[in-house]
This record gives sequence, structure tokens and C-alpha cells, in this order.
Amino acid sequence: MIIHENFSLKNYNTFSIDAKARYFVEANSVKELQEILGNNDYPRKILIGGGSNMLLTNDIDALFIHVNLKGKWIVNESDDTVSVKVMAGENWHEMVLWTLENNYGGLENMSLIPGNTGTAPIQNIGAYGVELKDSFVSCEAIRIEDLQLITLAKEECKFGYRDSYFKNEGKDKFVITSVTFLLTKNNHVINSGYGAIEEQLERDAIKNPTIKDISHAVIA
Ligand SMILES: Cc1cc2nc3c(=O)[nH]c(=O)nc-3n(C[C@H](O)[C@H](O)[C@H](O)COP(=O)(O)OP(=O)(O)OC[C@H]3O[C@@H](n4cnc5c(N)ncnc54)[C@H](O)[C@@H]3O)c2cc1C
Repeated sequence: MIIHENFSLKNYNTFSIDAKARYFVEANSVKELQEILGNNDYPRKILIGGGSNMLLTNDIDALFIHVNLKGKWIVNESDDTVSVKVMAGENWHEMVLWTLENNYGGLENMSLIPGNTGTAPIQNIGAYGVELKDSFVSCEAIRIEDLQLITLAKEECKFGYRDSYFKNEGKDKFVITSVTFLLTKNNHVINSGYGAIEEQLERDAIKNPTIKDISHAVIA
């Protein structure tokens, strides 16, 4: 792992603010993350995913750790459902498009939400009447106090409206490394109830929307 000094975060935050991190490192695996989290040479550490939910107002004297874990795959499958595990550094919207290409339903209403998949459980992201918790099975996270990789079940994440365990008792105690979702393969639940979606479907003269139609309506 290369630790950069006085590193511009311009390409790592969606406001493209040219603030500098005193130190910056890219973590490309769980092992690298554990290693850097355990390095006491850098007492102040800040995680960064897609950099869409932070506003940098000045240079920061800390080590920024870019959570760049990639990969997504099926962990379980039945005739009707599929469990998909997605690593934290995968861009949320690109991951949603991938599920739709495979005709997996559940995430389509949350198309185009900025950020990465590993950050999504923190505020239980949601849009157009659907929340992450509706498809969430579990996540894996590094517990910062002992650097162990643990699994947190849905109940343990205490999801609420734009809220979770990770914003309360669990704040600053975990680095989420992957999220597992349960998605539908058929008999998809179509959530078109939100006004803006219905209006868009009407404009496109779609009467029986598919999950892709819902995603297109949200994007439009
Ligand atoms: C234009 C815009 C539209 C939005 N629309 C919606 C919306 O419709 N619905 C909605 O719910 N939200 C929405 N959001 C909020 C945003 O999409 C979410 O907060 C998203 O989860 C941020 O992801 P990120 O990877 O960019 O987070 P970052 O900005 O990289 O990080 C956010 C916080 O999480 C911490 N963090 C980063 N990665 C990890 C990790 N792996 N483990 C633990 N902590 C970590 C960071 O230190 C930081 O404190 C919107 C934001 C913007 C800017």
C-alpha cells in the first residue's frame, strides 16, 4: 500500500473540492484495510467511499482511507430469489443497473442514489418508497477495536428512516466491507406508488411496468 502525502481529494469527492488530505491510502482488500486500520502511526483516520456525503471545507490533517473493495457475486439462489454479495467499493448505481440487467428485483426504486454500496447501510438509503433495509440480509464489517471481520444481521443494524446502528451506538466502530441483498428473480414487487414515478410511466404510456421501467422512470 502506498501512503501518499498532501494528497488532493478533488477526484474523490463529488463536489470536486480541491482539499488536501495530509495522508491518503487506497485499501483494495479486507486484509489491506485491517492492516492500515491497525497502523498506529496515523492516529486520525477518515474513511471515504464515493465521497458524495461529505463537504470538505479545508485541508485535513488525517489519513484518508479510500474503501476500494470490488466485486459482486451470487451467494445463494432458489427458483424465486437470489442472494447477492456486493463489496463495499462498488458504486451503488452501477450495481443497481447490474441487478436489473440480470432481472433481479428490489433495488430499482433506488436507482441513481450517489455513493458506494458499503456506505449505503449507514443511513439506510432510500428513495421513492423503498429503503435499503427492504432487501438487506446482512453486512460484513471490520470491528475497529480488534480488527476482526464480523457479520451483522439485519436486526443488529437497527434500521430506521435514514438511520441505523452505524449512526448511533455503532458510530465510528465499524468499517463496512460488503453487503448481502435478497432480490427477486420473478414475481417482482413493483413499487410505482410515488407520484413522480406514476406520472413518468403515464408520460411513457407504460401500463404494466417492469423493474427496468421503474428504474428508467426514476432516472428520468
Ligand atoms: C445529490 C445527492 C442526492 C442524494 N440522494 C439520496 C437519496 O435519494 N436517498 C438517500 O438515502 N441518500 C441520498 N443521498 C445521500 C448519499 O447518497 C448517501 O449518504 C450515500 O450513502 C453516501 O455514500 P458515499 O459512498 O458517497 O459516502 P461518503 O461521502 O464517501 O462517506 C459518508 C460517510 O460514511 C463514512 N464511510 C464511508 N465508507 C464507509 C464504510 N465502508 N464503512 C463505514 N463508514 C464509511 C465516511 O467516513 C463518511 O463519514 C444523496 C446525496 C447527494 C449528494
